[in-house]
Amino acid sequence: MSGGPAGSGGGAGAAGSGGGAGSDPDAVGSGAGSEASGGEPGAASGARSSDGDRIDVAGLGFETRAIHGGTGADPSTGAVNTPVYLSSTFRQEAVGVHRGYEYARSGNPSRASLEANLAVLEGAEWGLAFASGLAAEDAVLRLLAPGDHLVLPNDAYGGTYRLATRVHGPAGLLIDAVDLVDPAGLEAVMRPMTKMVWVETPTNPLLRVIDIEAVAAVAHRHGALLVVDNTFATPWIQLPLTMGADIVVHSTTKYLGGHSDVVGGFALTRSPELADRLRFLQNSTGAVPGPLDCYLVQRGLKSLAVRMERHCVNAAIIVEMLKGHPAVGNVLYPSLPGHPGGAVARRQMRAFGGMVSFTLAAGEPAAVEVCARTRIFTLAESLGAVESLIEHPGRMTHASVAGSTNEVPADLVRLSVGLETAEDLVADLRQALDGLG
Ligand code: PLP
Repeated sequence: MSGGPAGSGGGAGAAGSGGGAGSDPDAVGSGAGSEASGGEPGAASGARSSDGDRIDVAGLGFETRAIHGGTGADPSTGAVNTPVYLSSTFRQEAVGVHRGYEYARSGNPSRASLEANLAVLEGAEWGLAFASGLAAEDAVLRLLAPGDHLVLPNDAYGGTYRLATRVHGPAGLLIDAVDLVDPAGLEAVMRPMTKMVWVETPTNPLLRVIDIEAVAAVAHRHGALLVVDNTFATPWIQLPLTMGADIVVHSTTKYLGGHSDVVGGFALTRSPELADRLRFLQNSTGAVPGPLDCYLVQRGLKSLAVRMERHCVNAAIIVEMLKGHPAVGNVLYPSLPGHPGGAVARRQMRAFGGMVSFTLAAGEPAAVEVCARTRIFTLAESLGAVESLIEHPGRMTHASVAGSTNEVPADLVRLSVGLETAEDLVADLRQALDGLG
């Protein structure tokens, strides 16, 4: 391993002096557009004048930035956690004179705190929180105009593919879904009207690894933006904005929240122009998270590093067991010898993640059966939380892409390896595989 981009406090430290909406203490409320102005770029007026004891985290380690980055004790009370500001509107002292917040769709302190915090972790200058990962993706896709061309990976998350092809496609977006593992495949589909290339790495559910720097070079040579969905890796494992990505998106529902108790999304960037446009869309379309959702995601961020470390350790132990089990066909995990993305993974990732997929030697019936036989691995959609989950992508998370370029193998099972005792997880999976009919 290279030691990883995030390990040294490197890239993300660039924004460590505050980053995001909080890069300037007087701009904590910069996520707070004005309802009257419709949140027009630059319309945020004023901010909290004092932000308490915020620590300058520039150059500090990932864990310190996760806990203190971009945020500090609540200025009005000293509460060490940003409170859940359950207020839809904010008093103005005179018309247009306020403390940075007017109406909670445009901005509220709980959201601003999370936005600044995650921006620091991703090495972004600006972070915008949304009501779900797909709401964030929708805002990013709205940066495009009818007639523009979008390139997606041919195994992107099914919901991403559905949003692009069935919502934005009919509105005029031209879309190609291709294998982005080989950047030559991308070069072949680039056209003059290609305005955005979308990367997910590792991919969901096939755990392919895409070379972010190589794809960024192709996208930028053709004048297109590069968007990276960093949901599977998280900023603890890789920092796409330091590798050429223009925008990072997240489903914070997953590892960032980390406890299966919140749905949320994010878009992050270093470009002031993109940040302004995304902030405008955030306010104008209104797909914003509530303050409690923001609190829960921010609480998750604080323990992200220790959780990710254990997710990766447990996943590696499970991979070892699966490799040797006769009921298993192929195991998909970036560290395995022969994984086509192994070399790229070692270069751009700090560790290999907590997601593991595998096929069953006896095909689809066995894949479906094993999902019903585990006891500690819960049969459920979603991923990235403390509890281990098992699912059949073809019939569950990726059912909507059946028959398309993004259809997933029917004999595939996906695991989200949680934080339970590794030996218990291994024993659970082993009994499920041993007992297959
Ligand atoms: N991106 C990836 C990689 C996902 O796995 C998901 C959901 O599973 C999403 C985006 C969408 O996020 P949400 O469910 O929060 O809308």
